Amino acid sequence: MISPRPFRRTIFLVIASIGLLLAACQSPTPTIAPAPTSDSPQPFDVAWDDRSLFSEGLISSEQGVLAELHEATVYHIDINIADDLLSLEGRQELRYTNAEEEPLVELYFRIFPNLMGGAVTVAGVRVDGQEVTPSLESADSALRVPLPSALEPGESVEVSLDFAVAMPQEMAGNYGLFGYFEDVLVLDEFYPVIPVYDDEGWNVEIPSRNGDVTYLDASFYQVRVTAPANLTVVASGTEVGSEYNGEQQTLTFAAGPARTFYLAASDGFTEVSEQIGETTIKSYAFSDRREGAELAAGVTANALRSFNQRFGVYPYTEFDVVSTPMTALGIEYPGMTGIALKLYDAEAEVLGLPSQVILESTVAHEVAHQWFYNVVGNDQVDDPWLDEAVVQYATGLYYRDTYDESAERRYRSSWDERWGRVDHAGIPIGLPTGAYEGSEYGAIVYGRGPIFVATLAEEMGEETFDAFLRDYYQSHQWGIGANDTFQRLAEEHCQCNLGELFVDWVYGE
Ligand SMILES: [Zn+2]
Repeated sequence: MISPRPFRRTIFLVIASIGLLLAACQSPTPTIAPAPTSDSPQPFDVAWDDRSLFSEGLISSEQGVLAELHEATVYHIDINIADDLLSLEGRQELRYTNAEEEPLVELYFRIFPNLMGGAVTVAGVRVDGQEVTPSLESADSALRVPLPSALEPGESVEVSLDFAVAMPQEMAGNYGLFGYFEDVLVLDEFYPVIPVYDDEGWNVEIPSRNGDVTYLDASFYQVRVTAPANLTVVASGTEVGSEYNGEQQTLTFAAGPARTFYLAASDGFTEVSEQIGETTIKSYAFSDRREGAELAAGVTANALRSFNQRFGVYPYTEFDVVSTPMTALGIEYPGMTGIALKLYDAEAEVLGLPSQVILESTVAHEVAHQWFYNVVGNDQVDDPWLDEAVVQYATGLYYRDTYDESAERRYRSSWDERWGRVDHAGIPIGLPTGAYEGSEYGAIVYGRGPIFVATLAEEMGEETFDAFLRDYYQSHQWGIGANDTFQRLAEEHCQCNLGELFVDWVYGE
């Protein structure tokens, strides 16, 4: 995510001078075979290990991963969005494998809409066909599902449930990323999703409102969406099936490996596309904001070129950029990003600058999250700097690669500007989102954070640092990075001790 931040006027002047780039709740036993005329795959008729639907969404060099990640959770989800877009009903079946080193006696699901002004009800929870009684915790944002018997390491369990979601029409929590606002339906974390289990156990804390709320493992999603036919539905992954029936459409998406499944929809979107290698960029905005959609597509193309070259190639055959309502500037999801509606208004000033300037830096930032957040995950609640500060640094590299080093320098001055909002206080960048007060979160994680990454690069030597970051990305693909693995790998590359530097900037005394 990136929230509003001040840009110094000088940044605008310089950047402008170099020019802008340019079912009703499904029956609990939906085992009826699909009609022969349908080309929309039925999620519940697909074997858990059948990954054939996912190959279309991965570029050829990345398809090998489909024969790996055996322990990744597989979600089969079927949702029906109401005609007024104010509610949906769904059914979900999933297979979860215990990838830990200890038996599990319970599973948890996060129910994030309950924190975002929405309301979720869950019914008919079954584990391996056996009905169980779940309970809500963490302000109704965590559903504890007891397992009939302990799940040993390496063993799998199947869970099925029905759920219904009511959408808010007023932004309430988490930057307005969930609900139906301004003619756009934005479905951030709308389904019950299993959080990461790690050395802290299940990650089910109530997230701070400061930052991103999820911490999820890479999984496989097959999602069937029934919705009014006039909507343009933009979702994570690739559309692998569609059928139209009068006023209704049913679209099937396959996304994976992916850290979550996101969907946005509107009847007002127009689409602009571009091709980079095997990846198609699709950029969506309201029809009268087509220029903004074109600009966003162009920035995405240059960002993909830059990061493909630097870190390793973007894995998917599709990348979607969608103009959506939110109080942040942008938000990352697997294979796509939401960018604030107001940045598409060509006449608007945002933070005192022409909207195009902020649109460019926001899109480049969100594109970088595909590498640091989606492919390499991290605990976004406890270690937000690991994706945000690194992504801010990468955004600077975008400016260097697309323009030149002086453009990068000018962009970098926005970091100092941010940090200046707390008088350059030496607050550690490595704190959980909730440990920062007021403007500290943005100032430290997005300002002091990238300055640390740049300082680290200087200390290690730029070439060594580049090799390290590439190695960090490639060695953690579809896994999770952490403070200690990040530091250790950097030290391996520089053959130096970075302990003091990490204490000074990341951990504090
Ligand atoms: Zn971000």
